[in-house]
Amino acid sequence: MINLHEFEIKKMLRLAAEAREKAYAPYSGFRVGACLKTGSGAYYLGCNIENASFTPTNCAERTAMFKAVYEGERDFEAIAVISDGVDYVAPCGVCRQVLAEFCPQDMPVICADRDGNYVVHELREMLPMSFTKKDIDESK
Ligand SMILES: [Zn+2]
Repeated sequence: MINLHEFEIKKMLRLAAEAREKAYAPYSGFRVGACLKTGSGAYYLGCNIENASFTPTNCAERTAMFKAVYEGERDFEAIAVISDGVDYVAPCGVCRQVLAEFCPQDMPVICADRDGNYVVHELREMLPMSFTKKDIDESK
């Protein structure tokens, strides 16, 4: 796994908690913030954005990722996620798939509870046997 110092993890969680404040979650009331770090040391923040028709709802992790990709970023080092929940929050299945598209399989995914306690997992643990661009490229 990519090595992260405790100081770096705390910084990312602080930024993710700031992003959580921008959540638009009038239906669930469950606010989530994410902080995505690039290989060059930039941080992209995201919050969850809900919608009255529900399916257009976007998670904090994908908000951060899509902002970064739009800006031309393709090299990612870690992501931190924090919510209002009492338990550690982990990216949903859709977000895991999006992370697998752009991030190294050994990338740390920092999952925090609302108080900032956290656990760290590798992306490959969270989405084993992931379907990626490689699968498509190999079939050509
Ligand atoms: Zn998600």
